[in-house]
Amino acid sequence: MRTIYVDNNATTAIAPEVLEVMQPYFTSEYFNPSSMYTAAQSTAAAIRQARETIANCLNAGAPEQLLFTGSATESNNSALFGTVQANSQRHHVITTAVEHPSVLEVCKELQRRGLEVDFLPVNRQGELEMRDYVKALRRDTLLVTIMLANNETGVCYPVAELVRIAKETDPQIIFHTDATQAIGKLPVDLQGDLRHVDLLSFSGHKLHAPKGVGALFVRRGTRWQPFILGGHQERGLRAGTENVPYIVGLAKACELAVAGVDEEQTRVRQLRDRLQSALYECIPALEVNGSEAQRLPNTLNLAIHGIEGEAILFELSRYGICASSGSACTSGSLDPSHVLKAMAVPFTAIHGSLRISLSRYNDEQDVKRIIEVLPEIVANLRKLSPYWDDQRNCLKV
Ligand code: PMP
Repeated sequence: MRTIYVDNNATTAIAPEVLEVMQPYFTSEYFNPSSMYTAAQSTAAAIRQARETIANCLNAGAPEQLLFTGSATESNNSALFGTVQANSQRHHVITTAVEHPSVLEVCKELQRRGLEVDFLPVNRQGELEMRDYVKALRRDTLLVTIMLANNETGVCYPVAELVRIAKETDPQIIFHTDATQAIGKLPVDLQGDLRHVDLLSFSGHKLHAPKGVGALFVRRGTRWQPFILGGHQERGLRAGTENVPYIVGLAKACELAVAGVDEEQTRVRQLRDRLQSALYECIPALEVNGSEAQRLPNTLNLAIHGIEGEAILFELSRYGICASSGSACTSGSLDPSHVLKAMAVPFTAIHGSLRISLSRYNDEQDVKRIIEVLPEIVANLRKLSPYWDDQRNCLKV
């Protein structure tokens, strides 16, 4: 049976081109980039080149503003803790209720350490209300951390505008954005509309590079301190022997993701929209979480009233279809998604959420198969559901 992988917001397949450029750094070019002998120079040069490539992909300016990390989780931790450590005179942080746990949990920890944190609510579409944001900004705000795009719903946040407003309130406010789901799906231009963003995090495994490598952009002049201490790697800003093959892979993946991004994302958006309209037609009481908001082109988060997301996943996997309910980070627990809760998705749908997230490796055939299989799975599960009136084919009231 062919596997249909539509869980690309959880992780992605490594691109063959990425694997190919990584290979020599596992075998012949294994040297520690800090070693003094000539043979090691090629590994140091590979890191230099990778940094330049990524800086170009993000139009970041000086490549030294990019630090390689082990994940977006590390980048987010480093961005937030590093900012707080470097700015002990300010104590107010703004974030949203729908950030990834690697931001939310750090913010909760900052609260425990005595900082004041505003977790801004979102509306039913998952959007931030601008008036809540403006009201929350203060002259003594230290840090704003708001993601470019949400991993569960794909809802995008107007970061360029949010930074502009923050800097107008006080140019000293430091702005961080988690761009993990955005790179390769949205244009990211650090000298264009995002030129006032101070810190930006992302990860390799959402864009066809391996898991376990990420990056943090720290704009020159930002009041930020290193968070991982130890050796002098990354000019003392992130200690630890560099993961050369993964760094090389990350650069190649960024290059591939950014090349032809508009064309590819148009193709993916068409696939997603076709899937969405077909499912609307075939499945009664179906909602698309965030459908009215600006969304990533690849993401479809369905609220299927009356049944459990886990049951749908199990049935889909019998057809070789790999999707997800909520996010991979919360699916290890039975807690309903904090993102859908923040969006006030009704109880009868919050447990029946199904996330389908496409990538450049998905095609028409994949979408066709999901359209063939999913409506029947839903109909069968609803027959067993205590919340579903099978006679009238609607939710029980
Ligand atoms: N932020 C967002 C928006 C994410 O989607 C993820 C991964 N689910 C992360 C951060 C964490 O990335 P990593 O797995 O590289 O730590």
